[in-house]
Amino acid sequence: MTSLTTFTDEVRTFLSENLTPDLRRAGEMCAGIYADQPVAVEWHRILNAQGWAVPAWPVEYGGTGWDLDQHAVFQREQTLAGAPVVTPNATRMVGPVVMAFGTQAQKDHYLPRIRTGDDWWAQGYSEPGSGSDLASLQCRAERDGDDYVINGSKIWTTHAQWSNKIFCLVRTDTSGKPQQGITFLLFDIDLPGIEIKPLISISGDHEFNQVFFDDVRVPVSGLLGEENDGWTVAKYLLQHERGGSYAVGLKIRLQKISDFAATEVSGNGTTLADDPDFKRAVAATRIELDVLEGFEQRLFSAVRSGEPIGSLSSAIKVRGTEMRQRVTELGIEAVGYYGLPYQPEARTFRSNVEPLGSALAATSMPQYLNDRAASIYAGSNEIQRNIMSKAVLGL
Ligand SMILES: Cc1cc2nc3c(=O)[nH]c(=O)nc-3n(C[C@H](O)[C@H](O)[C@H](O)COP(=O)(O)OP(=O)(O)OC[C@H]3O[C@@H](n4cnc5c(N)ncnc54)[C@H](O)[C@@H]3O)c2cc1C
Repeated sequence: MTSLTTFTDEVRTFLSENLTPDLRRAGEMCAGIYADQPVAVEWHRILNAQGWAVPAWPVEYGGTGWDLDQHAVFQREQTLAGAPVVTPNATRMVGPVVMAFGTQAQKDHYLPRIRTGDDWWAQGYSEPGSGSDLASLQCRAERDGDDYVINGSKIWTTHAQWSNKIFCLVRTDTSGKPQQGITFLLFDIDLPGIEIKPLISISGDHEFNQVFFDDVRVPVSGLLGEENDGWTVAKYLLQHERGGSYAVGLKIRLQKISDFAATEVSGNGTTLADDPDFKRAVAATRIELDVLEGFEQRLFSAVRSGEPIGSLSSAIKVRGTEMRQRVTELGIEAVGYYGLPYQPEARTFRSNVEPLGSALAATSMPQYLNDRAASIYAGSNEIQRNIMSKAVLGL
């Protein structure tokens, strides 16, 4: 059996040989949560050639058979090396639900295409008016022969502009409780009647969209699980949405911020890094990141030993996203005026435009603005606090 040290060396060698300067730069210049699709596809295909694109899947579907320690090492080493972060929509969301609820024909069709990166998926859950209260969703689907006919819209649909498939929750029955009468459908995102309208975020980036459905005919073969039982599938999928570590990447970012703060000498011959208030803020953030990493390790060891994790993942989501916001605030403080120019072309994949100031300067403002959303997505922090107050305080 391979020791963890040998395995770590193997991962490091792979990363140093395959993570090209272009991909490293794209990872460094990324201001959103996930790499833009051209970057993600390229990295995903390199991982697939190595047999590591879907490491957590069962071996029969192309997974690696690694144990939990190996998965943790793989994640950590990718973060340390600055690899692009690939959206989980396909590999960690729709893939596992197809395995759990799909027919053999659906498994045979969808899973290999996810693994190879031929299909890129968008998540059609949220609607205007249905986010935290997802079960209130209204997008309708009516059965007509061998098709469902869909009318309504989905919103905040990340990377829909780059996806060729979408998984959608639609309402097929209104007679029971809101959780009943929801159906989970898989279909092509370019069917007639589908319109994707960009939503440009405050950072100027195009990450998400509103998707409109006007009499869209979706073949019944795209039904996943039972009609009207999509809530069961939806909940199963959400268990796979979260995961990974916040602390490791944030520590790297904080170090870059401290390094930058030591380079700019002001009129009185000192740097920001000499400023006692800035020093205190960096030190306090570093300590809180150590505490966060401790929490993440606790969760990991609970999972490893099969203990109940309670609301620990909610606590980590809240703390991790708050720390993301804290670190990007410090980034703005450190880069100062360099954060002002809007430089999307310097952040584009394979661009030959050098950033003004530094990579940190070009990404600090868009990261700061994008990270305001961190406390909203993947279950808002208020909802996570509700979960904790029920589980821990019994409220
Ligand atoms: C960057 C980003 C990417 C996203 N990508 C996708 C995607 O690809 N696909 C998709 O389907 N969705 C996506 N979403 C949507 C996301 O899931 C929702 O934004 C989220 O569920 C919150 O819903 P909402 O925006 O409707 O806010 P609301 O639910 O209307 O909440 C508004 C405010 O009220 C608070 N609140 C709501 N209910 C309660 C309560 N019971 N108790 C206390 N406070 C409460 C919330 O915390 C929030 O502060 C994305 C969101 C973001 C920000």
